[in-house]
Amino acid sequence: MEKILFLAHTEPDGGLAKTALEALQATTNLVAELPDAALTVALFGAEAQAAADAIATCGAQRFLAVVGPDFEAPRYATDATAATALIQAADPTVVLAPSTSRLCRALPGAAHRVDGRVDAHVAGISVTDEGVVARRWYYRQRMTATFTRDHRPWLLLLDSGVAEPWHGDPASAAVEPITPELDASARRTTVEGIVAADVDAQTIRPDADLLFVAGAGWTKRQPDGETHPAQAEALIQGFLDRTQASLGGSKSLVEQGSKGEAVLTFMSHLNQVGQTGSTPHHPKGLSTCCHGEEPHAVGWRFITERRAVNLDASCGWAQGKADVLYVADAFEVIARVNELLQET
Ligand SMILES: Cc1cc2nc3c(=O)[nH]c(=O)nc-3n(C[C@H](O)[C@H](O)[C@H](O)COP(=O)(O)OP(=O)(O)OC[C@H]3O[C@@H](n4cnc5c(N)ncnc54)[C@H](O)[C@@H]3O)c2cc1C
Repeated sequence: MEKILFLAHTEPDGGLAKTALEALQATTNLVAELPDAALTVALFGAEAQAAADAIATCGAQRFLAVVGPDFEAPRYATDATAATALIQAADPTVVLAPSTSRLCRALPGAAHRVDGRVDAHVAGISVTDEGVVARRWYYRQRMTATFTRDHRPWLLLLDSGVAEPWHGDPASAAVEPITPELDASARRTTVEGIVAADVDAQTIRPDADLLFVAGAGWTKRQPDGETHPAQAEALIQGFLDRTQASLGGSKSLVEQGSKGEAVLTFMSHLNQVGQTGSTPHHPKGLSTCCHGEEPHAVGWRFITERRAVNLDASCGWAQGKADVLYVADAFEVIARVNELLQET
């Protein structure tokens, strides 16, 4: 019989992050597939009662928590201590945790302390004849593999998007406090403040509903024989400000700076989508001034609803790569869309 432990930390607002709720849903799906499996929830952070109450009806038999000011801020020593104490108290065979930066850093240490094995970037979990199996992507998400381990406890860090976030009625959870010993060295690192990029300066937004892709056409000569990079930049920035969409780019566009051509100042290699770029997971995508060649479009394979704006009616998007292709001038289309967005 598997004893499943869902392990997560609370956020500064006392709740659980979306990735934690997704991991919890994946956990409850797994428990439903396993006959006789027992589920325990373990939380750590400044407080845990509110978070435990919010997920009280998830089917867990026990709720454990390590709480206190020492566990509020991310810190390897205290996070690993809390995770270790919770795993030891629950004595699970399988531990499932969300891939937050905090747990990605601390869980491998906890796995070592409990003589467990840990796997990160798990994209799915299920049950087969072999028992619990995990799924991972390899080779830039072009190959997927399932694997299992006999060793217990087996700790798995679940990537975001592994399931829909868990939803359920709140109730009152009976939380058992766990109080690990902390020596002075665990408190040696202190958090003095957090410096984060201005949310508007950040153009890569994994949680956005829409991926907006800009291609090299934005900086190419237009029908009037001129290039209009400043206008392109203003239109794209205006669209991103209004929609909070995530910005992607084609390889040709992101490489233009190094070739001395006109550039969009907010576009970097990090924005590149495609075979040698990223493979985003947004539900919708809008491509503009990008040809939709295979090495680019392969990066769209997780984008379910795809639209493109291109002057060329026989561009790559027209070859079955987009649901809708608008054969139009993206400068005119985005200017009009921005006007309409301004009015709403
Ligand atoms: C090994 C390898 C790996 C690669 N990896 C990647 C990758 O990861 N990502 C990637 O993107 N590419 C990749 N490429 C490059 C890819 O093959 C294409 O060269 C690149 O995607 C082209 O970028 P683009 O469509 O923006 O530019 P272009 O091919 O120059 O297309 C510009 C488009 O803009 C349109 N356009 C121009 N003006 C307007 C306007 N006013 N309104 C509307 N449309 C307009 C044009 O009709 C044209 O279709 C790779 C290539 C190789 C060989």
